[in-house]
Amino acid sequence: MDDLVVRSADVFKEKQGIDLQTGHQVLRIDRENMTLSGEAFRVAYDKLLIATGASAVKPELPGFDLPGVLTLKSLSDGRRIKDFIRARKVSKAVIIGMGYIALEMGEALLARDIQVEMVKPRPTLLPWMNPELAAVIRDELEKHGVGLHPGNSIQRIEGRKGRLQVICDNQVLEAQMVLVAAGVKPNSDLAARAGLELGPAGSIAVDDSLQTSDKNIYAAGDCADAYHVVTGGKTWIPLALRANRAGWAVADNVVGREVRLPGVAGTAVFKVLDLQVARTGLSIAEAERFGFRPAEAVIKSRSRAHAHPGNSAIWVQMVGDIPTGRLLGAQLVGREGAAHRVNAVAVALHRQMTVEAFSQCDLAYAPPFGPVWDPLLTAANQLLKKL
Ligand SMILES: Cc1cc2nc3c(=O)[nH]c(=O)nc-3n(C[C@H](O)[C@H](O)[C@H](O)COP(=O)(O)OP(=O)(O)OC[C@H]3O[C@@H](n4cnc5c(N)ncnc54)[C@H](O)[C@@H]3O)c2cc1C
Repeated sequence: MDDLVVRSADVFKEKQGIDLQTGHQVLRIDRENMTLSGEAFRVAYDKLLIATGASAVKPELPGFDLPGVLTLKSLSDGRRIKDFIRARKVSKAVIIGMGYIALEMGEALLARDIQVEMVKPRPTLLPWMNPELAAVIRDELEKHGVGLHPGNSIQRIEGRKGRLQVICDNQVLEAQMVLVAAGVKPNSDLAARAGLELGPAGSIAVDDSLQTSDKNIYAAGDCADAYHVVTGGKTWIPLALRANRAGWAVADNVVGREVRLPGVAGTAVFKVLDLQVARTGLSIAEAERFGFRPAEAVIKSRSRAHAHPGNSAIWVQMVGDIPTGRLLGAQLVGREGAAHRVNAVAVALHRQMTVEAFSQCDLAYAPPFGPVWDPLLTAANQLLKKL
């Protein structure tokens, strides 16, 4: 676990000369006097960066505070989960939620020979994903013995003699450990109490220079919102690259080197057992919600040239806007070549390309890496017929 720490507090202090004070929770920001304070300290600021991150959501239902009902957000959460598994010799776990953290944890638990059941109230596995692609992921999970129970409202968790029961509307799931992976929420209470403007999902609203509604206060990372490069509007997508980039941009802006960030395309990748899953831009439903008139193409292609040994299927869904021909998003699933392929579409979204322009891009080909027509180009060609 210690190897996961990129830079320790000591390095910040010794190498960078930063007066880093761990173990201090900021409870108040006094904007008038430009100070912030906690239980045993008060600090004055000229410029302030709020980078308080996000927290795991734990539904307010009976039994979610029982021992063995755990969340995963920080390294110490990870240690707690590993210790619990070891101490209780966990052989059966229920995961509440089916997002990327839930799916990655499902795989991690299977690797420890723990039987996994996943449950959530909404009826579909990954609601943002095209159903044909989502079915590939569902099959992969079921092939590895994961029990999937979407469409099950959870009423409460009960504990009896070291065993937990997740009581749902339609069934009862038994386990020694329950992992709650039901999403995250921005840690914006501090900012809200200080009267700063909030954005989507209660995140802290910032402009493209990361400034909040107070010109002396910046916000960056999972606690703050961002512009979406496809919709042009505000969005809240808590991921690591944006958090990192926004932090650096604030540092530049504070020292007077002006940096403005165009925003995010919603690019994300994750692994589900032997599958790579990737997305960027808008799904069909999101495109409709933001006023586009979208069409989609779904194709099944190959990760290598057809005769090349080891080739496997790769699915691509691509979305475009009928009136303007603009490329709006893409999703990919496959055993190889799906994760990083999505980046070509992400760049195209940043440049606001049309599907036609994208279909003319000179993408790489050699038999070990794909067919002559890259799966993204095949998807774009099929999508063009619908625009
Ligand atoms: C299990 C897991 C897997 C993930 N995998 C990926 C991935 O594959 N790709 C990806 O892009 N992203 C991933 N993420 C998301 C990524 O970790 C976050 O986007 C990133 O860490 C956000 O960084 P941050 O600095 O904004 O927040 P954090 O890293 O959460 O840091 C916030 C800090 O603020 C402190 N803090 C909060 N409130 C206060 C207060 N009042 N006073 C003082 N300090 C306070 C917290 O203690 C914490 O140290 C994953 C997240 C999890 C939980």
